Amino acid sequence: MAPKDVYDVTIIGGGPVGLYAAYYAGFRALRVKIIDSLAELGGQVTALYPEKMIRDVAGFPGILGKDLVRNLAEQAFQYKPVIGLSEQVQELTVTGDKEIRLLTDKGEHFTRVVLITAGIGMFTPRKLPLPEADRFEGKGLFYWVKHLEEFRGKRILVVGGGDSAVDWVLGLLSVAKEITLVHRRDVFRAHEDSVRKMMDSSARIKTFHEVKSILGRDAITGAVIFNNKTGQEETVSVDTVVACLGFLATLGPLETWGLELDGRSVKVNFRMETNRPGIYAAGDMASYPGKVKLIATGFGEAATAVNNAAAYINPKSTVFPGHSTEKKQS
Ligand SMILES: Cc1cc2nc3c(=O)[nH]c(=O)nc-3n(C[C@H](O)[C@H](O)[C@H](O)COP(=O)(O)OP(=O)(O)OC[C@H]3O[C@@H](n4cnc5c(N)ncnc54)[C@H](O)[C@@H]3O)c2cc1C
Repeated sequence: MAPKDVYDVTIIGGGPVGLYAAYYAGFRALRVKIIDSLAELGGQVTALYPEKMIRDVAGFPGILGKDLVRNLAEQAFQYKPVIGLSEQVQELTVTGDKEIRLLTDKGEHFTRVVLITAGIGMFTPRKLPLPEADRFEGKGLFYWVKHLEEFRGKRILVVGGGDSAVDWVLGLLSVAKEITLVHRRDVFRAHEDSVRKMMDSSARIKTFHEVKSILGRDAITGAVIFNNKTGQEETVSVDTVVACLGFLATLGPLETWGLELDGRSVKVNFRMETNRPGIYAAGDMASYPGKVKLIATGFGEAATAVNNAAAYINPKSTVFPGHSTEKKQS
């Protein structure tokens, strides 16, 4: 029987936080593996908004999602982590002293430490509750914007009032012919500055409005919207609908790993440790009082988790890593 190949750190989730954790683990001279159920690295950023401008990551006044992911991958790949894509971790079992077995849909992996950067778990977009929605999905009706160019010259109806809706109004302005946004309330759950920019833009904003129906046979020719206070209806002439209604997320197999949960997140302490020794969490999946789910906070959590994991794996090493400027990159 072949001897077990036990990695130092196995990162579940290759989103931005998992990628940064992989860099940090390499920097700490740990052998690293990343496993992700998606076919590409980058998590939510790659899957949902590769061409959105991200403006709140330190050091970048503005960077496209796909460029941020490319930079993170380049930074992580310096240390040649092993990467398993399209592979979902299903079971987690402690098999020895500082030895954990992960069972995926493709095989088994052994590791001293697990870092869970599984984001919001498995997610699907919340669909528009209209009978015709399925028929138009991908044919004019979209739940995310992957490639801005596909929307060039379009007359777009954006539905929603959260960060995604507001960000996509701002992002699509540069390519769309015209944009109307409908939101069922008059308060937006989005960054104040973005809301202000949207309100000052050429987009037509219809608060207290919802979509009643999407019109068209093979392609979208319009939509009927209504004022939910007065009931008054209006037909808007659009060929594209972008519905940003949030996501339905489930923890999936993670729920059965004996971790203390806080809703759909994993509870961690200030070292980013879960209730189980050798298992850490960071990024959207990690929960503690005052948590803010952002890429920027996830990066700091990843560094904290990996440095504490390094000291857990080898108690002679310190938590503080020294500075990257003092270390030779491989
Ligand atoms: C439309 C939109 C716009 C956003 N804009 C911003 C913004 O401007 N600024 C900002 O800071 N944040 C923004 N966010 C939030 C940001 O994307 C998240 O905070 C960030 O992606 C979290 O990174 P993560 O690495 O923790 O998780 P994720 O990016 O969610 O990555 C987690 C990965 O884990 C994988 N995974 C899950 N379970 C398993 C399993 N069992 N086995 C294997 N793999 C698994 C998933 O496939 C996924 O790839 C936005 C989010 C959305 C939806």
